[in-house]
Amino acid sequence: MEENKTTNSAEIMYIVIPCYNEEEMLPITARALVKKLDTLIADGRISPASKVMFVDDGSKDKTWQIIERLHRSCELFTGLKLSRNKGHQNALLAGLMTAKNYADIIVSMDADLQDDINAIDGFLDKRAEGCEIVYGVRSSRETDTGFKRWTAQSYYKLLEHMGVEITYNHADYRMMSKRAVEELENFKEVNLFLRGIVPMIGFKTDIVTYERAARQAGESKYPLKKMISFAVEGITSLSIKPIRFITTLGIGIFFISIIMLIYFLVIHIMGRTVHGWTTTVVSVWALGGLQLLAIGVIGEYIGKIYLETKSRPKYIIETNLEENE
Ligand code: UDP
Ligand code: MG
Repeated sequence: MEENKTTNSAEIMYIVIPCYNEEEMLPITARALVKKLDTLIADGRISPASKVMFVDDGSKDKTWQIIERLHRSCELFTGLKLSRNKGHQNALLAGLMTAKNYADIIVSMDADLQDDINAIDGFLDKRAEGCEIVYGVRSSRETDTGFKRWTAQSYYKLLEHMGVEITYNHADYRMMSKRAVEELENFKEVNLFLRGIVPMIGFKTDIVTYERAARQAGESKYPLKKMISFAVEGITSLSIKPIRFITTLGIGIFFISIIMLIYFLVIHIMGRTVHGWTTTVVSVWALGGLQLLAIGVIGEYIGKIYLETKSRPKYIIETNLEENE
């Protein structure tokens, strides 16, 4: 505790929180965070200019009105309103990119307080040691259902298999320095999977483990359908291995066709086949293999282009309460 007071006392910390239909959760979250920030400021661990930035991801309920009210009642709260629902990852990115203009360090977390806010102390300790990125890692998944735990774990394994570097059991609860977020801005891809991108930034990083709690109010905004599309997004935006697999399959089948060609030729020479059968069978296999191979090769290029070209805006900010001062 003591040494942190001297090393890092003045850093401004922003906590960025994407919110989608979180009217039930927001007052609870706000109360907990204000207490946390007050303590950290009183201890001199963060600057008094630190804030909580709620990002309203096009909510249909009273989320934005609550954010505005919090902002008016307490200077620790600020808000960002997106023009429409763009999903958790884009809302988070909008928050990070805006917060970096005001803050030295930025913590990202969910609105539901499933991530233990006391891990922020750990983040600050690591920051004092010179880390630019600190990942919050769940020590257990006891509060998740068995199914969610199992799917999540298999998914991490699959990603690893696909050559994607990812921190095990880390969601989007992390601390990034202004510098790291500025580097993140240079990753222009539209297909955003922050968990896979952030490790690419590099710098000195570390992890802080914490217990993940159950959601206190409201319901999960990640039903199975969204979870699956998020999972597919993670693979296709970070790996072209599936396409490569098709190519390998094509090569395999093509080789089988050559072996068959030799086999059928031998039988043919020995005169044991019906006339014309050999050529038909061989060409079906050879062409099939070659077609798969060709599709795979083309796919390889399309995959690359796909990753690069769609440079549409990832989010549009409707209101930034920081600018209305
Ligand atoms: N969220 C968002 N936009 C969306 C869906 C979710 O900003 O389209 C936010 C949500 O308000 C929450 C966070 O993303 O703060 C994580 O969502 P949730 O807790 O429902 O996901 P889970 O913890 O169940 O995976
Ligand atoms: Mg949650």
